Order: sequence, then structure tokens, then C-alpha cells
Amino acid sequence: MIQTEAKLDIRKCSLQDLEAFFENQGEKKFRARQVWEWLWKKGVRSFEDMSNLSLCLGGKLGAHFLMQAIVEDKVQRSRDGTIKTRFRLHDGHMIESVLIPVPDEKRFTVCVSCQVGCSLTCSFCATGKMKRVRNLDPAEIFDQVVLVNEQSLEVFGHGLTNIVFMGMGEPLLAYSNVLDSIARITAPDGLEMSPRRITVSTAGIAKMIRKLADDEVRFNLALSLHAADDAKRNEIMPINEQNDLDSLMEAIDYFYRKTKNRISYEYIALKDFNDSLRDAVNLARLCRRFPVRVNIIEYNTVEGVPFEKSAEDRIDLFAAHLRKEGIMVTVRRSRGKDIDAACGQLANKQ
Ligand code: SF4
Repeated sequence: MIQTEAKLDIRKCSLQDLEAFFENQGEKKFRARQVWEWLWKKGVRSFEDMSNLSLCLGGKLGAHFLMQAIVEDKVQRSRDGTIKTRFRLHDGHMIESVLIPVPDEKRFTVCVSCQVGCSLTCSFCATGKMKRVRNLDPAEIFDQVVLVNEQSLEVFGHGLTNIVFMGMGEPLLAYSNVLDSIARITAPDGLEMSPRRITVSTAGIAKMIRKLADDEVRFNLALSLHAADDAKRNEIMPINEQNDLDSLMEAIDYFYRKTKNRISYEYIALKDFNDSLRDAVNLARLCRRFPVRVNIIEYNTVEGVPFEKSAEDRIDLFAAHLRKEGIMVTVRRSRGKDIDAACGQLANKQ
């Protein structure tokens, strides 16, 4: 039975909780389904917006529940069309989401955050310089998708086509909240987005990658690889010390065999650190066990970080070697650099 004395966030209730609530109030059970659809299918963020409920019923909901929706705080638009939005959470913390439009390909991607800050301290990443404060609730992740979808419709006349969990935080350390948010985003009585259009990106936690496989998730997996040998990876991603490349490859192989979902490696090209031909040879070696796409990403300057971006011709040579080895490669020129919305730059600059 749900708690009714202290106000509870209604989006922490299951459908069964809501049914029990309405029955207790002497209301018809089907009201629960109506409210559920307002919450998760239509994505409303206040009781007043539930227009087919009577004032009395809306009042009852308001008396027992609250809705801790995220609120837009600041919007920045890049010259290249990328839009970064800072959202305020109910407890005053801030997170960021980025809308990356590619109108020619009718691709509109939102990059969502899953934690306030991050505990993994990857050395090239601005979020890694912030302390991890807490995980986002499933509804707070869901809200980012709903709000950025509205933004995309308003600005580009097209809703979101893709979701990537590559914003602030490590999704596999906010595991159940991330999976619960995806359940609502993909559910027939939710936003009904295909899980094939969702990519969860991890810095690499072998045990949790295996758990994804055991949970038979249907979304795509991206590994933020960024270095193709343990010594270099330890240098920039401390998480590698407990999750070395062998253990990660084993875990991803297991994930692929169990799910057959798409796998990609994200690889930020850092000048004179990981962009040599030797690095490309090492990376090609990590691409042999299962089909994988490599996304090479242009690095973006982060204040206080000593790395520089690789020269374009160097990235081209690197990519050419991988292609020669039969590996699918995309070179992603960075987006939203002028507003600090590019990969690794999300850090709530006030
Ligand atoms: S790259 Fe991802 S995992 Fe690493 S510090 Fe940044 S947000 Fe955290």
C-alpha cells in the first residue's frame, strides 16, 4: 500500500499503487490508467494539465502526491544548431541535456544525463571534475526526453529520433534508474520509442555489462574506449584499473552473444596520446571478437585539461587504417563547441 500521509512523488508509484489509491478514495479503478497515461504517455508535469480529470479528482491527487518535474533553467544555441539546456532539479541541482540536430538526415538526437556530477574522474572530461552528488530519478531522465522532444518539435518541426546516454554521469552506476527510465520511454503505454534508437554509453564496468546481457536489454551499447591499451587507458580513465581491457572485451563479447544488440566504441582522438598508427593497430585488435562500429570523436578543449585535439589529417590516417582492416568507422566532427555542449564538456558552467 502506498504512503498517503506524507506527499510522495506520484511518478514513484506503480500502476497497481495508483489503482489501490483510487479504490481507497472510492473512485473507479480505471482512473489510475488515465492518470498513468497522462504521466508516461503524454509526459505532463503537473496535475492541472490532466484535463480529463475533474477538479475534485485533480485536487485529491494534489493533496496526496507531488510531481518533482525538472524545470528548464537556461538554453544555449550553437551556431551549428546544437542546443544545450540546463535543467534545475527539485532539490536545486543542475544537469544538462543536448539536442543534436542533423536535419538533412532527419536525425534528432538527445544526449541525456543520468547523474548529478560523476564519480569516475576521466581526465579529459569536464563532468569528471565535478563531484558525484546523486543519481537522477527515472522520471528526471524521462523529463529530459520529453522536454527536449518538445524543443526539437518547436525549433526543427521534428521530434526526437535517437536518445544517447552520454551526458553527465555513468549510466551503469545509476543502473536501475536508467533501465526504469528506458522502460517508460519504450513502453506501449509510455513514449513508445524503439529501444534500437537508444544507446547507453559506459566508461566500462565489466560486471554491469554482463548484467545488461543477463537482463536481456534491447538498446545499443557504447563503450567509451578512448585508448586501446591498458597503460594509456589507466592514465586517462581510472575505472580501467579495476576493469581492464581483457575483462571488458570478455563482458562485451558475452553481451553480444546474448543480445546481438549493436555495439560501438567511442574514441576521442587526443593529440600525440592515442592518435598514432600503433594506436590504430591496437584498436583494430580490439575489434575482432564481435561486430563493432568505431566512432572517432574530435576532442574539445576542457579548461584545466592538458590534452589537445588531433590534427584532421592524423585522424584521417587513423580512420583509414581501421577501414583497411574492415572495421566500420565514423569520424564525428564535434558539435556545439561554442556553447560547451560537445562531448566531455558538460559541467554546468554558471
Ligand atoms: S567521461 Fe563519462 S564516466 Fe568519465 S568522468 Fe565524464 S561523465 Fe563520468
